[in-house]
Amino acid sequence: MTSIASVNQASDNAEKIVIDDKVKAEGNESLTVVMSLSVKWNGALFPIDIYEGMTVSEFKEEIQTQTKVRPEKQKLINLKAKGKPASESMLMTGLGLKNGAKIMMVGSIDEDLVAATTVPDELPEVVNDLDIAEDKLLSVHQRQDYIEKIEKRVREYELKVLNPMRPGKKLLVLDIDYTLFDHRSVGQNGLELMRPYLHEFLLSAYQDYDIAIWSATSMKWIQEKMKLLGVSTNPNYKIVFYVDSLAMIRIEAPDYGVVEVKPLAVIWGKHRHYHAGNTVMLDDLRRNFLMNPQNGLKIRPFRRAHENRGTDRELLKLAGYLQDIAQLDDLSALRHSRWESYRPGGY
Ligand SMILES: [Mg+2]
Repeated sequence: MTSIASVNQASDNAEKIVIDDKVKAEGNESLTVVMSLSVKWNGALFPIDIYEGMTVSEFKEEIQTQTKVRPEKQKLINLKAKGKPASESMLMTGLGLKNGAKIMMVGSIDEDLVAATTVPDELPEVVNDLDIAEDKLLSVHQRQDYIEKIEKRVREYELKVLNPMRPGKKLLVLDIDYTLFDHRSVGQNGLELMRPYLHEFLLSAYQDYDIAIWSATSMKWIQEKMKLLGVSTNPNYKIVFYVDSLAMIRIEAPDYGVVEVKPLAVIWGKHRHYHAGNTVMLDDLRRNFLMNPQNGLKIRPFRRAHENRGTDRELLKLAGYLQDIAQLDDLSALRHSRWESYRPGGY
């Protein structure tokens, strides 16, 4: 069936190195970004949004998400309270930092992660946000070093199965930010920022697919967002697992430079009944499909929730497409870029 090497022609997409915002969800409280800082490390800048109520320890987790440097290895030179290093439980907003402040970090990635995540000297400050042409996606495929990184993730990444995998079901892997949720707008509660028809979509897809969530953020934020959206508690469908940024790998891609990608092969390597022939991944950024272009479907981003909430029907339409293609035994001949003109039997 699916070897790691063959699997590697499917690739999931890498979110940008500038990791998307996190939503702090406590009940239905508002999601408020109070300022934006950047962390300078290894010659590169990593922007991090600070939410109301964010502690130093949560800030360090965010740094880990972006840099892979574990909190205990992070030395944040100028993160101080009254002249002393800030302690873990302090609020970021209580440290007298100005919006846009730069925090200098010294720290090293764990030995075992170095090979997989070395940051090149000229890592761009902000990764190009343009989509790349489809024909550029194929050139990174079979590179041995990426396959080795994937194998390492298969061995070491802990994928916690939340709900039973169901024999015979296909696998649907979903991005969160801009795919299911407008994480950049501010709402009175998270539900205002949810993409319309989310629950209808998940319920429909659940009939034919095991549903996984993969977001380029930390596990904690994924859990909080899913709770906020009422996904984790919905009685009518179940999520099979959450995958976070630690399962991603860093690659160098044409037109993009260095980007973090979500290789589906990490999942396939761990659970062999999922493979390139039965997996679909939805993401708003095509570059997230760099390692598995055929399995990726680029969804229109859901932004400016307040304006678009009344008209966005993307999930409703995609539910129909996913239902149609679920009738096929093998999805590997599909071209998801043409999903809107697909009819049972062909395009
Ligand atoms: Mg996204």
